[in-house]
Amino acid sequence: MITYDHIMVRFGELSTKGKNKKDFIKTLADNIAFALRDFKDLSIQTRYDHIYVALNGLDYQPVVARLQDISGIHSLSLVYKCVREMEDMKVAALNLIKDEIGKTFKIKCKRGDKQFPLISDQITREIAGYILRNTSLKVDVHNPDITLSIEVRQEATYIFCHTFMGAGGYPLGVGGKTMHMLSGGIDSPVAAFLMMKRGVMVECIHFASPPYTQAGVIYKLEDLLHVLNKYQPKIRLHIVPFTKIQEAIYDNADESYCITLMRRMMFRLADRLARRRKCPVISSGESIGQVASQTLQSMHVINAVTNMPILRPCATMDKTEIIDISRKIGTYDISIRPYEDCCTIFTPKAPKTSPHLEQVLTFETKFDFDTLINEALANIETKILAFDDEKTQGIL
Ligand code: ATP
Ligand code: MG
Repeated sequence: MITYDHIMVRFGELSTKGKNKKDFIKTLADNIAFALRDFKDLSIQTRYDHIYVALNGLDYQPVVARLQDISGIHSLSLVYKCVREMEDMKVAALNLIKDEIGKTFKIKCKRGDKQFPLISDQITREIAGYILRNTSLKVDVHNPDITLSIEVRQEATYIFCHTFMGAGGYPLGVGGKTMHMLSGGIDSPVAAFLMMKRGVMVECIHFASPPYTQAGVIYKLEDLLHVLNKYQPKIRLHIVPFTKIQEAIYDNADESYCITLMRRMMFRLADRLARRRKCPVISSGESIGQVASQTLQSMHVINAVTNMPILRPCATMDKTEIIDISRKIGTYDISIRPYEDCCTIFTPKAPKTSPHLEQVLTFETKFDFDTLINEALANIETKILAFDDEKTQGIL
């Protein structure tokens, strides 16, 4: 029967990666196989230019929806795989569009295999002529209702007219690993998603200040990470006890400097844990100017405690843009649940928007923060949030 039987997966930016291309494709194929593991009847074929998912009779819609969440995919087409014979190609093309009564069409042909005896133009003309003779459809090359694409490749010809956009970015895992600072807010889960989309695996660090922050925050983080498991099936969450450090700061520094000091401690801890966990970078949900600690001058003073690159994917976004992404990826409703963050409980009335490094250093000489940092690092609790615990064992 002539019906769409495969999904053609295009790689997007991947193709610019020269000799790394093979590794990229393999990672993407593995990620696709993992994401589609519940669809038992599917099979996946990896070729140099595309990956093909054979539907083997399954409905394409849930498969396409799942594929659209996988980073590293530029676009997807629902295709019919046809033998490379002109007669078969004509019949298939006709069958795929003959029911589109009253519509206009155009044929776009790509001859990937230059050995094929006809050139693109001849293929286009023959097939268009056949459709015109056998239907009442009309050609419109400028503004067609249907664009029927024909790609002749070495192994087969692929015919299609339905294409869906993919998530873009790089396959998860090709970009290494980041230590990501996760609060329970809107921005940091979005930033985590954007890192993943760029192919970077995320490991999360969270600073908890019980009893000032409630245990509920951790449930909230778990819920957020379960949503993000859609994009990264297994995520580590390191919970750092932060209460003593925070109390020491409030006992020893001017109120207006507390946030700056607190964030310097966060970055010191993130730096140490990142090195321990072999993450060469730290990432966060900071956005320029959003709060006092996110002015450029604040970032400068806070950043001075580490020489690791700190990536801030939301840095230049407006809050509304960040919210749009959080809605799209499904974290927004969880993020807006009320909770106390360690940043919000001790919030000073007038935090410094342009803190001075000398002043900060003076406050930091007043207590032995190194000991407190070592103690916090020794008492980290780590959880692993997985899409499906049994099936993710061994991967990532
Ligand atoms: P978010 O919406 O992500 O909570 P925010 O706008 O509330 O961000 P801040 O509270 O100033 O901003 O935090 C800026 C960034 O610092 C967060 O996006 C997150 O990456 C990190 N951060 C803040 N609080 C914590 C925390 N308790 N544990 C881990 N990271 C944190
Ligand atoms: Mg926050």
